Amino acid sequence: MSIENKIPVSTYFGAMTFDQKAMRARLPKEVFTELQGTIKAGKKISEDIAGAVAHGMKEWAMEHGATHYTHWFQPMTGSTAEKHDAFLSIDRDGTPIERFSGEQLIQGEPDASSFPSGGMRTTFEARGYTAWDPSSPAFLMKGGKDLTLCIPTVFISYHGEALDAKTPLLRSMDAVSKSSIRLLELLGVKGVSRVKTFAGCEQEYFLIDKKFYSERPDLIMCGRTLLGALPPKGQQLEDHYFGSIPDRVLEFMQDVEHELYLLGIPAKTRHNEVAPHQFEIAPIFEEANIAVDHNLLVMEVMRKIADKKGFALLLFEKPFAGINGSGKHNNWSIGTDTGINLLDPGDTPEKSVHFLVFLVAVLKGVYKRADVLRMSIASIGNDHRLGANEAPPAVVTVFLGELLERVLDAIESGKVDLKTEKQVLNLNLAQVPLVNKDYTDRNRTSPFAFTGNKFEFRAVGSSQAASVPNMVLNTLMAEAVDDMSDSIQAKIKSGMDKDSAILETLREEITATKPIRYQGDNYSDALQQAAKDRGLPNLKNTPQALRVLLKKDIQDLFVKYGVLSEQEIHSRLHIRLERYVKGIDIEARTLQLMLKTLVIPDVSEYQGDIGSSFNNLHAAAESIGLSDKALNSQGNNLKLLAENLSTLIDLTVELDEAVEKLEMLETEFDKADYCADELLPLMVTVREVSDRLELMVDRSRWQLPTYSEMLFEH
Ligand code: ADP
Ligand code: MG
Repeated sequence: MSIENKIPVSTYFGAMTFDQKAMRARLPKEVFTELQGTIKAGKKISEDIAGAVAHGMKEWAMEHGATHYTHWFQPMTGSTAEKHDAFLSIDRDGTPIERFSGEQLIQGEPDASSFPSGGMRTTFEARGYTAWDPSSPAFLMKGGKDLTLCIPTVFISYHGEALDAKTPLLRSMDAVSKSSIRLLELLGVKGVSRVKTFAGCEQEYFLIDKKFYSERPDLIMCGRTLLGALPPKGQQLEDHYFGSIPDRVLEFMQDVEHELYLLGIPAKTRHNEVAPHQFEIAPIFEEANIAVDHNLLVMEVMRKIADKKGFALLLFEKPFAGINGSGKHNNWSIGTDTGINLLDPGDTPEKSVHFLVFLVAVLKGVYKRADVLRMSIASIGNDHRLGANEAPPAVVTVFLGELLERVLDAIESGKVDLKTEKQVLNLNLAQVPLVNKDYTDRNRTSPFAFTGNKFEFRAVGSSQAASVPNMVLNTLMAEAVDDMSDSIQAKIKSGMDKDSAILETLREEITATKPIRYQGDNYSDALQQAAKDRGLPNLKNTPQALRVLLKKDIQDLFVKYGVLSEQEIHSRLHIRLERYVKGIDIEARTLQLMLKTLVIPDVSEYQGDIGSSFNNLHAAAESIGLSDKALNSQGNNLKLLAENLSTLIDLTVELDEAVEKLEMLETEFDKADYCADELLPLMVTVREVSDRLELMVDRSRWQLPTYSEMLFEH
């Protein structure tokens, strides 16, 4: 353990980031002041100071041992990308020198052609530009022996279209800020110049021993097991949850946290999760764009350290069938730059009014755009998780908890008059955080739950970047907030006093959004029925969810708020569909490979063993006086094995044909639907037979590591 572990974290927190402290030490005073202003205003850095900032940053990075820099960005594939350049350059007279110009800092030109653009870039103009997002600090990342200076950037095309996941998120943050300031002014809240959205991502993951991982082509190629029988002890006992963390894992966590602290990432809690070998890490929340960056870094750092410690990190949403999957709980809230959390019930009536209006705006946004929210978390992995028994369903509903339910009911039924402080106080809003926390902890089944002073969007997949869900949340909120403002303004215009206009708007919206509120068990059939009765979208798989992006009014929403242009929407749709189809194609091909090179040979060999054993027994039966019945029993055993093997061989042929057919289909949607409706169910059927065989075959003949080994051996 290094020395830093013995000194308080606060003394080295962020040491590997070019944060305020480093900037102040490295930059001329005027440059520092202007840069702070730029960051606060959420603007781009001006060319005038870029040179000085680049110089200071380079000196700082080199003193820590960095030799290279990279523009770190988030392509639409959902991960991060980087291309490293050395600081080294050669002067005109041949002298080697380290250089990093203002231009290199604020704008880079990566070889964009290898990143998907969804058709937005034709090859002759395959250029894409990365531009520094100064609100996210530059950092030094360990890789190999060296450190690299990473500059968080946005990635845009030559014509200014967003080629990344971050640009639309930043735009959505602007949109919701603008709408919210207008509403706050109407509510009489002054002095707010920016409304911010915050996120805190609780990250679930599995850790398994690398030796098992390296023997599973499915885990290596697809991130999940395509085959594997359930162990006798699954998670029935639930003894893992909050249990003691094994030492080897604890060391992994400590190393991860140490690295995260150096990167200025406030990792806060760590614990076991429900399934064996499943764990969680949660940071302190930050502004949404930073939280998304940091969550991506958390995943990256965990992957690296797992590898060093002899573990494989599994971030896939459902790596083991029949065992709990992993999610990413995206805690989300909205607040002012003056420090008010607009989702905090507070303890004064004035604050409560903002709270009520913004709370109802969330209900309104989520109700109106439930399908977009569902779309935002659609992925191959999440399809296995959503709607399965232990995960939020594909239906989006909102859980508020008993007390808030009562508050809203009281307002709806006219029992509240905002003009009399007393009545608002009688709602006991101050108790909401306390009571609600208890309640939400007990309703873990809700995909979107109010938890005291924030909402927790629990349906996000563990491997997904949080940028898209947050972008959608901000956008639907911008729209809902505007609608609330419009309604209040219209009422005032028609002669109503302000308080009555606010209360009347609240009442109308509480009634209108009732169908989205669901306090029951979201895993139950009752929820499925309720979804039908209430007309809530129930989009079962990724292609169904992605079709939402084809709807005109949804395209209009993103265009109206300047978050995505029509072209940008189409490119995202195209990329996500393609990734879905390619991903399942890879899964099917990996399964073919495993069946043909591992499972069928293993079973055949074992069948050979017991076949000859049976023949020998048959020959000896009379001389040893074995009854026909006893002989038959052994024959039946052999027969059962042979029959299952034959079925598996037939199914393998079927799978071959299905994979070929996929290639012949024309449109991406045809392919995606085929994957969801034909290929995946066939893979499930194949798996059932293979898993049955796994439990019949001599362990020493079975080459694949089993679930028992992966999940119960340390
Ligand atoms: P729990 O939800 O189990 O009560 P916490 O209150 O610690 O646990 O919150 C879990 C996650 O939510 C943490 O990542 C935390 O930083 C984040 N969080 C807390 N408050 C907010 C907020 N106002 N906005 C966004 N995220 C928040
Ligand atoms: Mg949680």
